Amino acid sequence: MARCRLDCRVTAGLLLFAVLLVACGVPTPSGPATFSGELAYPWVTLQCDLGYRITGTEANRQAGDMIIEELRAQGWEVYEQTFTYKDTPVRNILAWKGEAADGGDAILIGAHYDTRRSADEEDPSQPVMGANDGASGVAVLLELARSLAWDTESRRIYLAFFDAEDNGRLDGWDWIVGSSYMAAHWGEAGESPLEAMILVDMIGDADQQVYYERNSDPGLSQALWGIAGQLGYAERIIPDYKYAMLDDHIPFARMGVRAVDMIDFDYPYWHTTQDTPDKVSAESLEVIGRTLEVWLESRE
Ligand SMILES: [Zn+2]
Repeated sequence: MARCRLDCRVTAGLLLFAVLLVACGVPTPSGPATFSGELAYPWVTLQCDLGYRITGTEANRQAGDMIIEELRAQGWEVYEQTFTYKDTPVRNILAWKGEAADGGDAILIGAHYDTRRSADEEDPSQPVMGANDGASGVAVLLELARSLAWDTESRRIYLAFFDAEDNGRLDGWDWIVGSSYMAAHWGEAGESPLEAMILVDMIGDADQQVYYERNSDPGLSQALWGIAGQLGYAERIIPDYKYAMLDDHIPFARMGVRAVDMIDFDYPYWHTTQDTPDKVSAESLEVIGRTLEVWLESRE
């Protein structure tokens, strides 16, 4: 009986807490699991432990295989989109779950998993480890794959892992090769029309500052930054414009999809040999992951 009374009091307390949260308008993840930065961070080190994930290399192949294995373990369907670019094999990975009801549109969350093969400003002979530039976005997507919960009978969500993003200007390579290919061929393998696309890139810096990006959809940016503000992240997810980026959201924006790039371009180790896991924090991954989680799970 004592135990029961205690439980009742705890339950009543939790209910009151929940009511207060609702009354204050604080968004909370609605699914049974919650995005955890502590669970996301090991995906950064696991990728870096494989070595430099440069397009066409063994470490890149292993990273792709690891991503696919985890997605399948979390119950996602997976499609490997392969093609050749400048005699180099390229593989995009596209995962999805759920069905869009009544022909409704789907949402795509993306990140690139390849890393740059030259630390060009610093030492062109050395590659970039890409703990933040690549691995951080992948880590957020893989933890979302575990923690996201939504009405899968009414909405489809895609997770895209782009290859060949980051060798631009090297030996005549373009930037955003993988995402350009995926956007150009969207729908050919039965992919659903897209309502929105959100890219996460370089979002793991322990000293995190994510500004509005000028080539992103303004309304969707305001919605995401607004949720971040409600979650208490306004000092990190800052609702001011700063940079314009050529990144993997551009090919989807050109298709007419509302697209947003969540990127922290104030990263001193960008394209240097110092872009290593010690610069990335679990807390920063959680800020991005929770923002996306609340936005995705609060949609009808
Ligand atoms: Zn890069």
